[in-house]
Formats: sequence, structure tokens, C-alpha cells
Amino acid sequence: MFDFDSEELNQQTLFVEVILPLAIPGTYTYRVPKHLNALTEVGKRVVVQFGKSKIYTAIVSAIGQKAPVKYEAKYLIDVLDEKAIVTQQQLKLWQWIAEYYLCTLGEVMAAALPSALKLASETRIVLNANPDFDKSLLNDKEFLVLDALELKHELSVTDVTKILAQKSVFPILRSLFSKNLIYILEEIDEKFQPKKVAVIQLNPLYQDKENLKHLFAELEKAPKQVDALLGYIKLAKSGKSVKKTDLLEATGVSAGVIKALVDKEVFIAAHEVISRFTHPDLTAVMDFTLSDAQQQALSALQKSINEKSVTLLHGITSSGKTQIYIRLIEDYLALGKQVLYLLPEIALTGQMIDRLKVYFKDQIIVYHSKFNDNERAEIWQKVLNNEVKIVLGARSSVFLPFADLGFVIVDEEHEASFKQFEPAPRYHARDVAIMLGTIAHAKVLLGSATPSLETYFNALNNKFGLVKLAERYGGVKLPYIEVVSIAEERNRKLIKEHFTSVLLEGINTAIANQEQVILFQNRRGYVPILICQTCGNTPKCINCDVSLTYHKASGKLHCHYCGYKEDNITECPACASKHIAYKGLGTEKIEDDLKVILPDVRVARMDYDTTRNKNAHQVILNDFEDRKIDVLVGTQMVAKGLDFENITLIGIINADSIIQFPDFRAYERSFQLLSQVAGRAGRRSKQGKVIIQTYDAKHRVIQQVVNHDYESMYHEEMIERRQFKYPPFYKIIQLNIKHKDLGMLLKISDAFAKLLKHYLGDMVIGPHSPLVGRVRNYYIQTITIKIDWASQSLSKIKVLLKEQISVFEADKANKGAFIIADVDPY
Ligand code: ADP
Ligand code: ZN
Ligand code: ZN
Repeated sequence: MFDFDSEELNQQTLFVEVILPLAIPGTYTYRVPKHLNALTEVGKRVVVQFGKSKIYTAIVSAIGQKAPVKYEAKYLIDVLDEKAIVTQQQLKLWQWIAEYYLCTLGEVMAAALPSALKLASETRIVLNANPDFDKSLLNDKEFLVLDALELKHELSVTDVTKILAQKSVFPILRSLFSKNLIYILEEIDEKFQPKKVAVIQLNPLYQDKENLKHLFAELEKAPKQVDALLGYIKLAKSGKSVKKTDLLEATGVSAGVIKALVDKEVFIAAHEVISRFTHPDLTAVMDFTLSDAQQQALSALQKSINEKSVTLLHGITSSGKTQIYIRLIEDYLALGKQVLYLLPEIALTGQMIDRLKVYFKDQIIVYHSKFNDNERAEIWQKVLNNEVKIVLGARSSVFLPFADLGFVIVDEEHEASFKQFEPAPRYHARDVAIMLGTIAHAKVLLGSATPSLETYFNALNNKFGLVKLAERYGGVKLPYIEVVSIAEERNRKLIKEHFTSVLLEGINTAIANQEQVILFQNRRGYVPILICQTCGNTPKCINCDVSLTYHKASGKLHCHYCGYKEDNITECPACASKHIAYKGLGTEKIEDDLKVILPDVRVARMDYDTTRNKNAHQVILNDFEDRKIDVLVGTQMVAKGLDFENITLIGIINADSIIQFPDFRAYERSFQLLSQVAGRAGRRSKQGKVIIQTYDAKHRVIQQVVNHDYESMYHEEMIERRQFKYPPFYKIIQLNIKHKDLGMLLKISDAFAKLLKHYLGDMVIGPHSPLVGRVRNYYIQTITIKIDWASQSLSKIKVLLKEQISVFEADKANKGAFIIADVDPY
């Protein structure tokens, strides 16, 4: 960057542009103290004071010699890194995200960097107890901080500043952090411990047969201990770690007996992070060969990837897309390149990593936001140093500092969960991945059985390459789909609760054949909504305009928008009637009803409520895979990626609740969701069956799903999209204006829409009330902007919007109001 020799450099007066992790526009200029000149570099972290007293970690985005005109630059306090931790490519990507998604660079930085890498005054430091650490290795200041932490357990960075009586504390914290003595937390609920189980190990001393013999002799007088030891040896034969609970159960000895053996140093008590057991047929698949159809698809992909930046693999469910990805990844590893493999949901990374580890061993790691900060910071460094070749991750892994990225896979690219809603940046990871590919000169592959209309449109228009794979691996047929009319069964009184006779019969048959079943329902909760049969009143959240949902587990009414809870009611608060009925149908109710109708069937449930803990998901899936569960009832979560050979029946409890959703994407989403759920059936040898229960058997989307007819769905939807001005023909930007006072809100949002119409004419629609008009005590009005982006300049319109939004927010008349911009909101 600077060609001066060091002598000269030390004499220069330098200024840096820095990005602060805050929602403030633009970058800020700081002056570099001369002794830091040589250390200052773009992409390094620096410590700066911002505002009256707060200190932050900022990233240097540029170095120059010009002083700012409007203010006097403060000095940098310190430079934190020896080597840049943010790459030039990342800075470019951040810039693009900020412009495209109408947010600030600071918001992008805040989302991108693990909090351990962006200390600020409010950051809290927690002791990571490590009794084995030799404290004499610490310097005085480190010692002081650790001492204080041992007393108080938790300190803020400001506290540390006071304890050490100096401003620059980050290098000390960094050193403690790298010695693994502290944790760094940003928010309380981020406190995270990986779930561990207690395991027992045998002291390696006793691997020696002679020693073991002696041991048994020594224990002669303690028969219980001998039992425990024998039990251990038996359990350890499986080659798996021995869980303490299993040992207790298998031997019937008390925990005291095991403790005695631990005290004698016969056993070693340890903890292991729970992970899935290795897949039984993993080794068999190790040496796979692609089928002819897969081989053809692979060759076509290699050719397309050569020619185009982005390629779509449109391969039906169970066509073996993953196996093809593996071959492509191998191509890039052979070139020494890094690979990013994106999945739409954190929960899916567990199953996939087991599958991929077989081939890629330690070259692959998982990354997502539920890792703790220490882990995330560690992965960040490894990716930056090119020590890790493949990252399998959820959407936030697009922010990692790849040193030499060659290839990006976006699997299930149509999934809505690639979109981040809250907080800013409200980005779509697929689209960011495509931009990342452009910036890093890496190739991008999108994979899906049911591509998003946008992607398919781009593929048909030759913007993306397109490769099709229309055959399931192993010649397994696509599932047979049967549509059952709920109304008809109801008339004939065949229906039990919400199960048609056809579905119940299907479940019974599957179970008689020792096969497994998935039941899909689009909602969670027990019976979501209470309704007064006398006056029609339903209990609403006090903070939001939504009905409360009854949760059986807590016995309370919950708000899904703000977390508010209240006691269940037996009497209508409006009219005092005692005729309260439950309306709607959730997964919990399905599970309960089924247990009553088929008491011998082992039923479990997987939804948001049962999977809140990091590993709960894995536990349910393990049980299902181990066939401890016959029927798994679930929401969207069961639709994606599950690959179990023994599932032969999928039941869709109510397709109408999916299709009748008030959103322009409803049909596209329903087709995708129903096809994906259906694709879980019969993936190995047998043809699977899907039973769809509906009131509207003739509905065009249901027919398209039955016929596995993506093309018809695409073409019919595209006609409507064009006619009603929706994506992919039009770009949508939503401005959500919020205020606590409804009257004020209506007034100012009206005025703002008028102003925008002045510039953008009938591109501007609204303001109107969104589906949920009040959340967390803020009323909301939405202005929608539809842009015909073939003829209009998107970036010009965005610049205008950004300007108008900041003018709006600076205007005293709009005090108390704020605007949230959402680009490509759905
Ligand atoms: P998709 O992602 O297209 O739905 P998967 O990649 O999950 O499909 O493949 C479906 C199943 O078929 C998996 O169990 C996978 O292991 C198996 N499979 C696919 N291709 C092969 C192959 N070439 N050799 C062995 N097994 C394969
Ligand atoms: Zn009432
Ligand atoms: Zn609420």
C-alpha cells in the first residue's frame, strides 16, 4: 500500500477511515499516532473512542493523509492485530451489502464479526475456569483482571478499564482470550455451553493386561467396584465412549461406586460434546461411484461452471445432488481452493457434516451463529489462515474471511430461511453468496429440487447455467401422492379428530411393516387460538396486534412476536361467557390426538418448541434414526433435508393452511414445501407414499404437486407475477415505519409516502397496515416500492431512498418514529 521506507513512514501524519460496529452512516476518520504508523493496515482492528467516553473496536477500511474537514480527528488508541483480520474482498462485500440492503457498514460489520473480535465498552467478560492454568505465566495486568474475575465472575470492558486504570485494555483481554481464560459475551442470552454428557474412561494404565489383573486382585474386597469395572469393559467393547448414565444403568451400581473408582484413578471422569453416532452405512458409501445420470449431470456441471459464474442444478429430491457436490468439491480441493457449502438451516448442518466428514475428514468444519464466541473467533482465524478448506454453514458463514475461495454451493437455494429478517443487514444469503463469488472470483452452484422463481428465471434466461437431474438415485420412483378430501370424509363421518380414515390406515400399514411415518403440520403450539363462542372475542397480546397462542406445556397463552405470556382463561374477558373454544390445529394437538387414537404407536414431535436447545434436534433425529420413534410429527423442520431410509409414508394434515396464506409467494412456497415434504418418503429402495388432506382437492397447486410438475407451476406463477408486478419482474423494497402513537404514525407515514410519490410516482404503494399492525407496542405502517428494474436504475432509487430516510429521521416532526427498510422482503 505505502511504498515509503520505514524511516519515512514513521514521520508521516496518517489518517484512517474506520468502520464502527454501529448503525451510523459511513466511516469515521481518526488520526494515527506516529508510533502506530507502521502497524496500521487496512483490515486490522483498531481501538477508538467514539462519543464522549465509549471505546470500540473498529476496522480500518482505508488509510490516507487527508484530515477530515468537518471535525478534528481524534487519535487512534491502539492497533490490535499483527495481521489484518478482515480481507479486502470482505470490505468490498460489506460495501455491497450496505448499499444493496439499505443499511450501514457498521451494521454489516456487527453481523459479520464474532463478538469476541469486536470488543466494546459494554462487552462483558466472563471467567473461563481453567484450574490447570499456571498463573505465574501471566503478566501483572492479566493477573489483576483474572483476579477480579474470580471475585466477581463477570466484568464489563469499562470495569476492566477502571481496574487497570488505562484506556487500552483490549490487548490484555485479547491475550487472556487467546489463553482460553476468559469468555467474551455480547448479550446475556448468548451465554452458551455446548451440551456435554459425562463419560467414563479407563485409565490407560489398565490397557495393559497384567496391570488389569492386578487391579482386579486389589479390588477383591469391593465387589461393587468389580461390577462397575466389568460393566465398563463390556460397554467399551462397542468402540463408543461409555456414558456414565449407561454404566450406572447397565451395572446397577450407585454413583458413589463410580466416584470411588475415579478417586482411585481407575476411572477418569470426562465430558464429551454430544454428537450424532456415525451413520452405520457411512463406510460403505465411502467409495461411491456416480450413476450414469449423475455422471452426466456432473460433466454438464463442470462445463457450465467453466463458462458461467453461477449455475443451477435442478435435481429432483433424492437424485443424489450431495454426491455430485462431493465430486465438485474434490475438484476444488485439488486446486488448493477453499469451498463454502451453505445450508438453509443450522439444524441441517449436523446431519450433513456427518455425511461429509467421511470424505473430507478434518478439512471440513461447521460454522453458524449458535457456536459460542470463542469457537467462532477460532474458526474465523482458521478460515483466514487457509487452515480450513471447506466450511459447511448456515447463512452467516458468507461473512467468513476466506483467504482463497474457489467454489460456493448454496443447497436448497429456494429456502426462505436464507433471508435474515432481524436485525439489519436484512440480507439473503444466496444473493450475498453470488456477490461473494463475483468479488472472490469463485464459482457458485445453486442446488434445488424446486428452485425459486427468481433463480429459474435467471437460468432460463441464460444468466445462470442450468443442469437438470430428473432421475432418483438407485431408480427409486418418486412418491405416489394421494389426495384425500377432508370434507368428504367428514360427511361420511369417517374422520377422527383431524385424521382421515385413509391416513390412519396408511399409518397402521406402515407400522405393521415396521416402517416409519412423518406427519406434517404447518403450525406449532397446542390449539393455537382461543375463541369465545358467545361474542367471538379472542385474547390478544398486550403489546402486539396478534392473537395469543395456547401452549399446553406451559399452560399459558403466548405471543409469538414478543414473547409475552399470560395465564390461560376459562372465562371470556369481554363478555364473561364460559363458552371458550379452541380454534386451529397445532403439532402438539396432533401428537396428543394420535397417541389417543393409536395408543401403541410411539409418537414424537419436532418443532420450534421441542428443539430450542442446541442439541435437542439431534436427539430427536437420533431416536428417529434408531427407530425408537414410529411417527414423527413436525412443522417445516421435518421438511428439509432429512434422509432416513425407513420413512415410507408422509401425511400432510392440512394442505389448505399452507396454500391459503396471504402472500404473493403462497403458491410457489406451497409447491416447494409440499414437494420437499413428499420427497422425504421412500428415498432408498421402496417407493414412498404421501397422503395430502385438504378441503380443496382440485386446487391447481395440489395437482401440480401430485404430478411432480414444477414447470407448470413456474409458468402459471410467472404470468401472475408479471401481471401483478411482483418479482422476478419487479424488485420490492418495503419501508416499515414504526411509532408508538397510532395517530402520529398515520400522519407521518402518509406524508412520507406523498414525498416518495413525488420522486417515484406510482412505484410507491401505500402506506398500508401490515398483517400484524402492532408489535412490541410499536404501530407499523408499510410503504411498498415496486421497481421495474429492467427499465429503472435500482441503485439510483436506493440512493434516493437512503437520503430521504435520513432526512425523515433527522426531522423533529418525526420524533419517536423510525423506518426499517427491507429490500427483497419475502
Ligand atoms: P438429494 O440431495 O438430491 O435429495 P441425496 O444426495 O441426499 O439426494 O441422495 C439420496 C440418497 O442416495 C442418499 O442416501 C445418498 O447417500 C444416496 N446416493 C446418492 N447417490 C449415490 C451414489 N452415487 N452412490 C451411493 N449412494 C448414493
Ligand atoms: Zn365473549
Ligand atoms: Zn406480543
